[in-house]
Amino acid sequence: MVANLPPATGFLAEIRQDGGRPLAPVFASLGRRATLRKRTGDQSLRTVLLHSGAPDGAHAHARGRTLVLAGELYNRAELLRLLPGRALPGSDAAVVLALFDLYDVHAFRLLNGRFAALVAAPGRAVLATDHAGSVPLYVSAAPGRVLAATEAKALRDAPGGRPVAARPVRGLPGTHQVPAGTVLDVDVATGTCGAHRTWAPSPARRTMPEEEAAGAVRRALERAVRVRAGEGTPLVVLSGGIDSSGVAALAARRAAGRIDTVSMGTEEAHEFAQARVVAAHIGSAHREVTIPAAELLRRLPHTVWAAECPDADIVEYLLPLTALYLRLGDPGRRVLTGYGADIPLGGMHREDRLPELDTAVCRDMDTFDGLNEMTPVLSAVGGHWSTHPYWDRDVLDLLVSLEAGLKRRHGRDKWVLRAALAGVLPHEVVVRPKLGVHEGSGTASSFTRLLTDAGVPGDRVRHAKALVVRELFDLVVAGGRHPDEVVTGAVVELVTARLASGTRPAPTRLP
Ligand code: AMP
Ligand code: MG
Repeated sequence: MVANLPPATGFLAEIRQDGGRPLAPVFASLGRRATLRKRTGDQSLRTVLLHSGAPDGAHAHARGRTLVLAGELYNRAELLRLLPGRALPGSDAAVVLALFDLYDVHAFRLLNGRFAALVAAPGRAVLATDHAGSVPLYVSAAPGRVLAATEAKALRDAPGGRPVAARPVRGLPGTHQVPAGTVLDVDVATGTCGAHRTWAPSPARRTMPEEEAAGAVRRALERAVRVRAGEGTPLVVLSGGIDSSGVAALAARRAAGRIDTVSMGTEEAHEFAQARVVAAHIGSAHREVTIPAAELLRRLPHTVWAAECPDADIVEYLLPLTALYLRLGDPGRRVLTGYGADIPLGGMHREDRLPELDTAVCRDMDTFDGLNEMTPVLSAVGGHWSTHPYWDRDVLDLLVSLEAGLKRRHGRDKWVLRAALAGVLPHEVVVRPKLGVHEGSGTASSFTRLLTDAGVPGDRVRHAKALVVRELFDLVVAGGRHPDEVVTGAVVELVTARLASGTRPAPTRLP
């Protein structure tokens, strides 16, 4: 199973001209650790790699440069054509370093992958995220030293960094998150940096006949599933909705044997019946996992710890799958999800009017960055590697660019995707309306009840959820507490007491 995961899923890297005390490698991700040391001129590089047995595939060295890669590429074959006459690089890290030799920072414009990368070159630290920023990357830079890590908590004890062209992290002064689709080129001596965008969502829209559009989506998605499925048996987290059912069906069609699927639910709500229809249709080895709502809520601190996200809506949405990944039990699975189709297709906006639909798509594509919804740490806390075919760079570029009338058509949301998958799924699945994982699993309602039972008035629940999640973030990310030591109920009590004693905002006055 081990060989089926990327060589590394995370890292902490320190580039210094001055020596200095190394940071302790603190990660939520499970994984073995390997330390890599390199010296170039007056600069030293020390990297702790989180790996699954073959860390050498996660770094490459040439001409005094070292590249460290957490994650994997999905367009290797295409990239290798750019390297004619060279000894074929074995690992993805070696491919990226060879491209860096040719294109320097522009190499990252070529990559379709799920990765965070660091290049240590004489005098330079180059930090890159994939187009979606799907593997978070954090940096703390000061004159003579650049520290970078795939989890912000690993930089908690970093001595103060200077401001860089990136997003500050709540509660961690001097630590910044590298934006999605961006290369930061840091001058190690001064700690100053330049930023290059390597990807942006298309603002233009393409028109296509119905069949052509559905065919293009089908082909792009088939390829995205194929390159993600790996050598062993993939596991698809399956809700029975169109998005994950499509991924499962396409994965099953190309697999030699049966694929695995799993659905989670609570004693309060689940979509087990819907998922069963799909599992039976594609012939997967299917499992249902019921997680009691009380246990689910106890995983809130772990979800915040993994996602490093202070946004309550996002954390509530990420909680059910994080709890599932912690429960899977198998060693190191490669997991495919149906995450993300709604964003480029406007699926969660039950909106018939095309201008409003495209406005929503533009807004969602402008604001996904930094929320860490796709972070691999959510599954890595259970030792797994997750990947999201709908956010493959080519699939995403295609879906975003289709005109709104192909997204909403014949009275259906995500019409083009439903049309693309009509041949591989039962009709009832193809037309099934959207249900978010936080809704279908009863997560949102259980969290609400936890707060109302503690005395929070109904109209203050949303605000209280925001306070609870922020408090959790301050404890487990900024504060460095382990989530096993943080009791959700105690944080809820604290927030409830604060809300009750604090100044309630004046009720909105009607004019
Ligand atoms: P959704 O919010 O429904 O779009 O969920 C995002 C992704 O999470 C889906 O495409 C599935 O891959 C996965 N997922 C959602 N609900 C479940 C569930 N109950 N069990 C397993 N996986 C799920
Ligand atoms: Mg769903």
